[in-house]
Amino acid sequence: MAIPLRKSHEIEALREANHIVAETLKILANSVQEGVSLLELDLIAENYIRSKGAKPSFKGLYGFPSSICTSVNEVVIHGIPTNYKLQNGDIIGLDVGVELNGWYGDSAITIGVGTISKENEELISCAKDTLYYAISIIKDGMRFKELSHHIEQFIRNRGFVPLANYCGHGIGRKPHEEPEILNYIDGGSPNSGPKIKNGMVFCIEPMICKFDVQSTLLNDKWSVVSKDGKNSSHYEHTVAIINGKAEILSK
Ligand code: MG
Ligand code: MG
Repeated sequence: MAIPLRKSHEIEALREANHIVAETLKILANSVQEGVSLLELDLIAENYIRSKGAKPSFKGLYGFPSSICTSVNEVVIHGIPTNYKLQNGDIIGLDVGVELNGWYGDSAITIGVGTISKENEELISCAKDTLYYAISIIKDGMRFKELSHHIEQFIRNRGFVPLANYCGHGIGRKPHEEPEILNYIDGGSPNSGPKIKNGMVFCIEPMICKFDVQSTLLNDKWSVVSKDGKNSSHYEHTVAIINGKAEILSK
């Protein structure tokens, strides 16, 4: 199946959906503090998204029960909001997906609660810096595998490892479309597979672990935790390829 090339009015529709995602993340970031529960954050996000005439796209997606993903400390991705109250020193990944008029947006950040350790700061910087590095090197004609290769190198040069078996993805009329964009090279040459082209819209999402790329699911069947059990981080933007370069839509 070919990866869709979006026309400019379609990219504008995606930009609108992603703008709501970005605003939601901003509100959530301002709401994160010691004592706030994950369920409260979920409600804040859902209310804001619906007030904009959009829908929280994760709700019901593959059976996911909530509006956003809240991944605390060792949870890398897909954490379910519970009545857990944030504590000073925690780090929390916030992942938001929105559907507006049949178009989808998706973005994630990881932030600290109160004062966090130097180690956690480095972990978060790695995810954020990897994301912005990846966005900066994308150009029309580059292969997705080449991008994955550079992402992996960047993460490993910082002394961390990319989570295996989860990835970035195309986005548009569905929350997850082709292609899969891994944060590492899974065999084969970086110089193979589909090329990045003008009009493509996709999500890049570095997922950073300390030692072990392999993961397990917690008992809730959603929360993904590295086998090393250490804290982890995640950042994500939706980008569109315009005039040969990646432009961030989720801002
Ligand atoms: Mg996401
Ligand atoms: Mg995503």
